Amino acid sequence: MPKRNQQPELASKLSDKGIRLTKQRRILIDLIESANQHLHPSDLLYQAREKGVKLDRTTVYRTLTMLKELGLVEELDLLHLNGHEHYYEIRHDRGHIHIGCISCGKILELHTDCLSDLCDEIRQKTGFIIKTVRTEVAAVCPDCQRKT
Ligand SMILES: [Zn+2]
Ligand SMILES: [Zn+2]
Repeated sequence: MPKRNQQPELASKLSDKGIRLTKQRRILIDLIESANQHLHPSDLLYQAREKGVKLDRTTVYRTLTMLKELGLVEELDLLHLNGHEHYYEIRHDRGHIHIGCISCGKILELHTDCLSDLCDEIRQKTGFIIKTVRTEVAAVCPDCQRKT
């Protein structure tokens, strides 16, 4: 999975929007920003605890909801390969496809120009203005193909 370090800081985007950064929010934002995988809320709780910061589940969910509503973070179900859990990642201007292995649950990210081609086609054919693109593909990974 690509590193997310090149992303402009969420913190400055939030203060641009006039949102006050409590210590807890700041920790969460740092963790989300430095993540190199899709985050489950319990990952955030665990990682914060590892850093010696006590957070409760409600704060984590509230912060994620706020970031999602501001369009800074995407909520993903990743094909529900892991039950009903939802995951979060920083929203990128350039979209990517999530490819999930239905056999082992591995998730791969593919950055491709075909998404912007698809958006162009949607715009031309429907006149809709696209706000979010989320593409998830269910597949069988090469490792699992070898096993069967
Ligand atoms: Zn697999
Ligand atoms: Zn992703």
